[in-house]
Amino acid sequence: MKNVKYGKCTRCGKTYEAVPDLTVCECGGILDIEYDYGYIKTRLTKEALAGRGERSMWRYKELLPVEESTAPTPLRVGWSPLYEESRLAEQLGLKRLWVKDDGQNPTASLKDRASAMAVAKALEAGADVIACSSTGNAASSLAGNAAAAGLKTYIFVPSRAPKGKVAQLMTFGATVVSVQGSYEETFELSKAAIEKWGWYNRNAAINPYLSEGKKTVALEIMEQLDWQVPDYIAISVGDGCTIAGLWKGLKDLHAIGFIDRLPRLISAQAEGCCPLNRAIETGEPWRPMEENTLADSIAVGVPRNADKALNAIRESNGLTVNVSDAEIMAAQKLLGRTCGVFGEPAGVTGTAGVKKLCEAGVIGRNDTVVSVVTGNGLKDVANAIAACGEPITIPGDMEHLLSAFAEKGIAVD
Ligand SMILES: *Cc1c(COP(=O)(O)O)cnc(C)c1O
Repeated sequence: MKNVKYGKCTRCGKTYEAVPDLTVCECGGILDIEYDYGYIKTRLTKEALAGRGERSMWRYKELLPVEESTAPTPLRVGWSPLYEESRLAEQLGLKRLWVKDDGQNPTASLKDRASAMAVAKALEAGADVIACSSTGNAASSLAGNAAAAGLKTYIFVPSRAPKGKVAQLMTFGATVVSVQGSYEETFELSKAAIEKWGWYNRNAAINPYLSEGKKTVALEIMEQLDWQVPDYIAISVGDGCTIAGLWKGLKDLHAIGFIDRLPRLISAQAEGCCPLNRAIETGEPWRPMEENTLADSIAVGVPRNADKALNAIRESNGLTVNVSDAEIMAAQKLLGRTCGVFGEPAGVTGTAGVKKLCEAGVIGRNDTVVSVVTGNGLKDVANAIAACGEPITIPGDMEHLLSAFAEKGIAVD
């Protein structure tokens, strides 16, 4: 890889050759992939990008840690739509607001970006089995992207994972272990199994390539905005790999001169599980929390990528916001009704955070904001129904329809 220098420990600074099965530093610190931006600048221009036919995350290959000979993975990952939402912006009192709907990825979450990268690196490593633990979306995206590439998967999920995600896993043919315990216990079991059997490791906080896949969401947002930098980008945070990847992508673009300033990040967590935001707010080291929220994808009491995530929030002079489950449900309804975008609870948590910050007057009138919806609502229909209600249920005749409308006060012209 001519564009990559090495993997560098975020804790002790030790560097490692960027082999495909790179994991963590011997000190236990998480590695970060460092690039040769001088080389990349000679290979990638905005004009060249604009003319590119590849409508997936692989259109940014010069900025990705893969061999030049590595082919794009089979499923179309990335290049999700960025919608300008004028009515929602007006309702919230913002100058301009965009929603990046990453629920439109092939397995319906942003995690596809990391899983496609994992599949590409596993193939480079000559592996034929990949494994991970996940709150659900990393698992279903890995199972789907691996199935498309002909790789076998072993997946560990906590038993609370919503049915939609489990259905995806079973459909994609993964060997699925549902752990009767917390995400933390699930993670530890997967780690032990991966060590025992030597599978390719798709755990995002261990494999440093995965946030490089996730960073493509930032590259796309900026290209879709024609390189005009918004004031804020809001995203939901669990383990912290996603926000770290988002920040890495923005810094890459800054380093090669594609953007002239950096936005501030908005780190949105659930009130019932916000160890990273709490660390920022108190200025103290992060401490484990209970996993007490319906937003299962970000119910992470022991965040695995705390160092990189905290660094991203601090470096960007970012904001933190913690939202209740009721606020998450309200944001799900609001996005559905105002934008036609259906997000899962963790998927809409960033937007719930934006709404809360607008109402508190922290952001507003003069601010431009991108809110990333990280996962699709069909993954968790039970919570969508709980948030938005049941339909009118009647026998199939006009008499019942008229009385149901009258009863509900629905006036039809
Ligand atoms: C995984 C996930 C997140 C958070 O990503 P982390 O890397 O765990 O911080 C947010 N939303 C959805 C839908 C996810 O699946």
